[in-house]
Amino acid sequence: MSEAASIQSKVETKPPKVLLDHYLKTLRLPSFKREYEKQAQLAAKSGEDHVKYLLRLTELELIDREQRLIERRIRAAKFPAVKSLDTFDFKAIPSLNKMLVQDLVRGDYIDRRENVIALGPSGTGKTHIALGLGLAACQKGLAVGFTTAAALVHELMEARDEKRLLRLQRQLANLKLLIIDELGFVPLSKTGAELLFEVFSQRYERGSTLVTTNLPFDEWTEIFGSERLTGALLDRLTHHVHILEMNADSYRLTQAKKKRRSAAQPPAGNGA
Ligand code: ADP
Ligand code: MG
Repeated sequence: MSEAASIQSKVETKPPKVLLDHYLKTLRLPSFKREYEKQAQLAAKSGEDHVKYLLRLTELELIDREQRLIERRIRAAKFPAVKSLDTFDFKAIPSLNKMLVQDLVRGDYIDRRENVIALGPSGTGKTHIALGLGLAACQKGLAVGFTTAAALVHELMEARDEKRLLRLQRQLANLKLLIIDELGFVPLSKTGAELLFEVFSQRYERGSTLVTTNLPFDEWTEIFGSERLTGALLDRLTHHVHILEMNADSYRLTQAKKKRRSAAQPPAGNGA
């Protein structure tokens, strides 16, 4: 039986609502399906015509679809925690260019395929900033990936052993934003360094890469081993780059000290 004939036979045998629900499901229009009765009642009450009624249903579907995409992007990014920049205290780190961060949140650097390097000692909020920028990119509907340098190298080596390196490399190259956290914490093996270099190389001018590191550039040779490889890598990474200077005392330590101080010294005056 042809598709049209099959639809025709269903129309004859099933109540229209059952069929409509079935077709909306087939067409993947869940918000349409959920809302059409309620919206019809509202339209009847306010005397709205059918175009306005359909328009509202279509808009609801679009908005929900966008929201579902964002949620999918956030899940796919594999953030260790979902943090936004709304909870970031810029006053705690005067060395950080707040205007630049706010500009990066808008995401134009991703369209321009530019990179970001957050550089500074431990506890200064580098991961928080990376998570915030990653979340902002997901909210624009972009494909984002979050990983640490050590985990990425591990994953690449495993993929190579299992003969699926090309597939993984293609997936990584297709991300609009790849965040590589904690570069420089552990020195890399020769193979590890080469595999990581390939990731940077394949993303060069194709997508944005955000790196957080505690190591100034002149010490990168220590992690990558070879001076030639490090030079080539830095050349690609820093060709179009925004550098976030994050020099401050550790936020965690400062907060802990503050807490201890206020515990030892109960606040004077009218504080409860
Ligand atoms: P890093 O990656 O530089 O070691 P993190 O981003 O992991 O630092 O920061 C350590 C902890 O302190 C995290 O829980 C982070 O959310 C918090 N933190 C750091 N800096 C700030 C800040 N300026 N405002 C709010 N929270 C911060
Ligand atoms: Mg970190």
